[in-house]
Amino acid sequence: MSRQRAVVVGGAGFLGSHLCERLLLDGLEVVCLDNYLTSTPANISHLGELGPFTELRHDATDHIDIPGNIDVVLHFASPASPVDYLNLPIQTLRVGAIGTQHTLDLAREKGARYILASTSEVYGDPEVHPQHEGYWGNVNPIGPRSVYDEAKRYAEALAMAYRRTHEVNTGIVRIFNTYGPRMRCNDGRAIPTFIWQALRGRPLTVAGDGSQTRSACYVDDLVEAVVRMVDSDAAGPVNLGNPDERSILDLAERIRGLVGSTSSIEFVPRPVDDPAIRRPDISLAGQLLGWAPTISLDDGLKRTIEWFRRLDEAAYGDSDG
Ligand code: NAD
Ligand code: UDP
Repeated sequence: MSRQRAVVVGGAGFLGSHLCERLLLDGLEVVCLDNYLTSTPANISHLGELGPFTELRHDATDHIDIPGNIDVVLHFASPASPVDYLNLPIQTLRVGAIGTQHTLDLAREKGARYILASTSEVYGDPEVHPQHEGYWGNVNPIGPRSVYDEAKRYAEALAMAYRRTHEVNTGIVRIFNTYGPRMRCNDGRAIPTFIWQALRGRPLTVAGDGSQTRSACYVDDLVEAVVRMVDSDAAGPVNLGNPDERSILDLAERIRGLVGSTSSIEFVPRPVDDPAIRRPDISLAGQLLGWAPTISLDDGLKRTIEWFRRLDEAAYGDSDG
């Protein structure tokens, strides 16, 4: 990678912390900007050992002023779990709108490459399957999820406007469900929730009848794709995700089996506007970035389960209480 100094906004979060780590290992200097709205500094406490790493506690909805050259700005700040963004509706809209503007202004000022972490949620409850980048989506603009979906759609529009008007070298990635170590066990997303419930011997809370689908990508695959996007000058949007589509019930039963748990399945109400199906068409990522995921669902789940098992033992001792 020829770029030398990166700013990762939301760098202490699940994806952000993996990105900071990878960029440091690639030899970049990394500045992590985060207000810890949905994360803790523990995610990045080890990063200073890997290379030149600076942590800035700052809210991206306030003006961002960072001295010195910056070669790339990655905007990964936003509540991302439905439970988080439904609890933090205004903060989610603000970081998607004002935070995106401030991070774009930073990239413009520095002449930096800019990457926006957008989402498969821009497709809403899709009527086209699998979802390709040319599909404009089916989003309820006033439903409870709109705080996230519409913020990201606005963020995409703003990034494209800065590209066209101010010639900022923007790149938009639409990330599909990604999982791995450092997700919070209580963030409410299906995979960490099921793993934690299975480890604690609690019922696995499957929403609806569990027939809705998702396609889960392991974090290392996703980070590789983002790094390739940084190194390209592609504008996108580019879908990034693993097309291995499963029902949520299948996912719950698979996790229970891999954990070796006797937990029951408890069917709970589905969230409002919960998308029924989701699978990325990743042909564009293949063409532009030469990328496709390499880690199978079972391998990724095993790695994630191991990480949560160690967390569980550290927090509660080696018991199943
Ligand atoms: P996360 O909640 O773990 O990380 C988000 C980070 O942003 C946290 O560290 C949080 O404190 C920070 N943040 C939030 N508001 C901020 C603000 N105003 N100023 C500074 N920092 C702020 O979530 P994640 O899963 O790591 O998601 C990271 C990004 O990737 C998000 O933009 C999300 O929309 C996008 N994304 C993630 C997924 C996924 O499956 N993980 C899928 C699609 C898109
Ligand atoms: N889900 C579930 N049980 C949970 C959490 C989530 O059945 O404890 C379902 C949720 O309703 C959705 C799917 O799993 O249909 C994926 O949810 P998640 O929050 O992981 O991500 P989303 O794709 O909705 O952003």
